[in-house]
Amino acid sequence: MKITRVEAIPYRIPLVAPVKWGFAGYMEAAEHVLVMVHTDEGVTGVAEAPARPSIYGESIASITYAVRNWFEPMFVGLDPAHNEKFWVQLDRIPGNNTAKGAIDLACYDAVARYRGVPLWEMLGGASDRVRLSWMLALRPVSEMVREAESFLAKGIKAFKVKVGLEPQKDIEVIKALRENLGDEVLLYADANMAYEDTNIAIRTIQKMQDHGLAFIEEPLPVWDRRGRLKLAGSLSIPIMGDESVFTPHDVAREIELGAIGMISIKAPRTGYTYSLKISHLAETAGFPCLMGTQGETGVGTLASAQFGAARRIVSYPSEISFFLFLQDDLLAEPVPFKDGSIVLSDSPGNGAKIDQKKLKKYRME
Ligand code: MG
Repeated sequence: MKITRVEAIPYRIPLVAPVKWGFAGYMEAAEHVLVMVHTDEGVTGVAEAPARPSIYGESIASITYAVRNWFEPMFVGLDPAHNEKFWVQLDRIPGNNTAKGAIDLACYDAVARYRGVPLWEMLGGASDRVRLSWMLALRPVSEMVREAESFLAKGIKAFKVKVGLEPQKDIEVIKALRENLGDEVLLYADANMAYEDTNIAIRTIQKMQDHGLAFIEEPLPVWDRRGRLKLAGSLSIPIMGDESVFTPHDVAREIELGAIGMISIKAPRTGYTYSLKISHLAETAGFPCLMGTQGETGVGTLASAQFGAARRIVSYPSEISFFLFLQDDLLAEPVPFKDGSIVLSDSPGNGAKIDQKKLKKYRME
């Protein structure tokens, strides 16, 4: 099978309401890029590149440019199954994580569709489903508790809170959630490296720990090796890496350092090829994983769910529930959300069927 054409189509889907998560996050709409890999066998692989400028320095314009001007000439004529070969070429271009990730995901999708197997089977087949978590928007504590209760009623039993800017409120939120939701729910927090210093982080996280915080994501800057080690030594819960684990080489460095004990795998930034390498490294180190989110719409949600279902090391509830925020989607059939989980079908590839009318409606140029 040979690749004949690679398309990049930017699109915009409004959210039900604007969302604010922390200093890095305010959104009114998902503005992402649909990447399509066409082949001479008549199958087309699809993937979504969610631009996150404040994290990776990529925009929908830069992703579209990279796919159309760099990757299409590079990929035409290649077999989409030869990922170990095409990454040699992709790695010659620094950065552009999400553009590279999307083309990798679309190639895998094309191969799985051609072979007639779902990706969760092709990537390992541990299971056909992933449990989801829900990220609570930053609001007054009582409203956050009410939001969590409404998602608990939908079967979601894991909640993430963005922390780091107001340590006192961080503790209050976790305490209130624990008291109102009971002992069964999983609570964790993501600081996006925002705690002002190591001692504030230690004091605050120890108190959240007392209210049953399960783990803490990136409390301190990645460069602060001493601070991160000191913090890890004063906690009884693991630190989860996100900003510190963009690549498999990052993961190898973090295993050596010894500050983290869990990993957030984000298929949009590592494709399946490097997500697999990360999952193998995580297994050797004994680090449980979850699928993190870059705010995917339906296509990207399915792509990440396929990986999370396939790999047994992805054992914690995954964050790929952003699709519940959207007014609409590019998919002809909604994401198969049932009782707090995504339950994948046996459809070949990632299972995404693009509704052409919707693509026409939401595409941007
Ligand atoms: Mg994070």
